[in-house]
Amino acid sequence: MKKQQPDLMDKVISLAKRRGFIFPGSEIYGGLANSWDYGPLGVELKNNIKKLWWKMFVQQRFDMAGLDAAIIMNPKVWEASGHLKNFSDPLVECKKCHERFRADSLPTDQEDSFWKCQKGGKHEFTEARQFNMMLKTYLGPVESEGSVVYLRPETAQAMFVDFKQIIDNYQVKIPFGVAQIGKAFRNEITPGNFIFRTREFEQMEIEYFVHPKDAEKYFEHWLGEQKRWVTAIGLDESKVKYVEISDEDRAFYSKRSVDTEFVYPFGQKELYGIAYRTDYDLSRHEQASGKNLKYKDPVSGEEYTPHVIEPTWGVDRTILAVLLSSYTETEARSGKDDAVHETEVTLKLPKELAPIKVAILPLSKKDELTIVSMDIAKKLAKHWMVEHHTSGSIGKRYRRQDEIGTPYCLTVDFETANDKSVTVRDRDTMQQERIKIDELVKYFVKKLII
Ligand code: ATP
Repeated sequence: MKKQQPDLMDKVISLAKRRGFIFPGSEIYGGLANSWDYGPLGVELKNNIKKLWWKMFVQQRFDMAGLDAAIIMNPKVWEASGHLKNFSDPLVECKKCHERFRADSLPTDQEDSFWKCQKGGKHEFTEARQFNMMLKTYLGPVESEGSVVYLRPETAQAMFVDFKQIIDNYQVKIPFGVAQIGKAFRNEITPGNFIFRTREFEQMEIEYFVHPKDAEKYFEHWLGEQKRWVTAIGLDESKVKYVEISDEDRAFYSKRSVDTEFVYPFGQKELYGIAYRTDYDLSRHEQASGKNLKYKDPVSGEEYTPHVIEPTWGVDRTILAVLLSSYTETEARSGKDDAVHETEVTLKLPKELAPIKVAILPLSKKDELTIVSMDIAKKLAKHWMVEHHTSGSIGKRYRRQDEIGTPYCLTVDFETANDKSVTVRDRDTMQQERIKIDELVKYFVKKLII
């Protein structure tokens, strides 16, 4: 088994398109820059990532409340949170070709090909100016100043704005968290690198409310939880780095931030983050709304503004890191000289993330096999996402399933009618087992529910 680095990104993008995971959005109209659609297998992978996250951080904990808030919020939220004033990146524009770039991510090496201007010579940039990344639209039929609203640039703010609803109407006691998964929108100056940086993406975020004296303890706790997540989704841990963010680089509202970075083929960049947001957001919303957003301890009677630890995960960057980590090539050798005649690709996805859990493959298209195989497929489909395929050689069908990361292939053969059994092949060990049809559900429950 070997992994090749330099063109790994191209290989993953090509596999994602070829096998229906992710492809350019609006492609028949020439696409829309940096917009990507998740196809039949991509939506399964994405849903599995979100389900696993919800299971680990909401379902299996007893200090968490879920939320699914509106994407468009009252614009006063963004004024109070500081986004209207501060949610910006520095922008420079080349005076010759008018291309725009983020001023804080220009290559320092002046010989880098980046500096070459299509109008000749090198780029000549304007002074940097702040560019607000909030996506603006109008609500209702009149396009006036009064109808301006914004698509949320993060899911976080709703969890502060709804804090009072949750403590008043749901039985929670500090420390507790609010968790949300949803779309966020940013008018990024330089999107790119496939799904790494887009203008529409998804986040999985937690605002964890604590007593100020416990903030450091829970910061460490959530750092540990992010590490546990990285292991659960099978990332190549040699490529994961935890970076303490310096005072100068930290967001102004954060007292401590640690980024989880991943070494992508295009460089080491942010995958996730954790910030200690203190009481910044609740205090700002309390001031702006005039509502009491304090918490009263039911035992001591102490009333205070909780502090917040915010761990945040990007769904799309998770998918990219998972695909890069699980992409594996094997050289298939055969013939007298044992020459390499084909490179086979396997996505070694953790079982819980695999889009298809079991592929049911009858050895022939004859009714005597396909009636049984379809019956098995229907039984297993009550529990898991499965596929049933009858076309092509069995070798080709196995290879396609390896490429999309299916952990188990099940073949129905001419012996099945006699021994009421099928053969199950394991993607990683290549071992084959003969299993009774009646015991298949029990067998896969053991294999697939971890
Ligand atoms: P970056 O420094 O890369 O712009 P950020 O620090 O602005 O990221 P956060 O505001 O911390 O990002 O957002 C939380 C998470 O959302 C990030 O860790 C990342 O996984 C994801 N994310 C942020 N911006 C984008 C984007 N434009 N496209 C895809 N995912 C994103």
